Amino acid sequence: MRDIVLASNNMGKAREFEAILEPLGFKLHLQKEFDVPEVDENGFSFIENALLKARHAAKYAQMPALADDSGLCVDALDGAPGIYSARYCGHWGDDQANNDKLLEALKDVPTQKRTARYYVALAFVRSATDPVPIIVTASWEGSIGTVPRGSGGFGYDPLFQVTGRDLSAAQLPPQIKNCISHRARALALLAAEFRRYHIIEPSM
Ligand code: IMP
Repeated sequence: MRDIVLASNNMGKAREFEAILEPLGFKLHLQKEFDVPEVDENGFSFIENALLKARHAAKYAQMPALADDSGLCVDALDGAPGIYSARYCGHWGDDQANNDKLLEALKDVPTQKRTARYYVALAFVRSATDPVPIIVTASWEGSIGTVPRGSGGFGYDPLFQVTGRDLSAAQLPPQIKNCISHRARALALLAAEFRRYHIIEPSM
């Protein structure tokens, strides 16, 4: 097994990543095992933030690192909340306040103009100074509902209406969400890049 540190302490995310990476021969570590201090996410894009988190974790853990940065981009809001998704309401991680603010921002926007997507960037570095990081991005198309529906998932899932299904992301069974979400798609792309760059065997 090859050690890799995940630049996150979010157990939900860790489980999703582990399910894909373990069969590929990776042993996933959480960054809290190495006392990685908080990093200032001061990039202007998901890619920049993912890369700076990955380099930071690799520096402290002294091993290859994987980071993700994700968020919700709403067309009628010029891509907001975007990289500020977790702190849209002004402070970190208050899903209810973030959803309330989103509904308020879209209150005069008609259904057909409420298109949105979840977006994620994954960055993998072999070391803190890796000159050729592997970066993949993926998105998941949907639109923003007018009332929250469902109790699964997290973040904006109760408002995120999945394109092609009359369901919000919070109404999808987790095993379905974990197959079709932006993160699932990005992880599949990452596995392909690992094969292309001989980080894992082509047969895995
Ligand atoms: P981060 O990538 O951990 O910084 O998370 C960014 C924020 O984007 C989260 O706090 C959520 O608000 C939002 N987000 C990202 N992915 C999802 C998802 O799959 N469902 C719901 N919200 C998400």
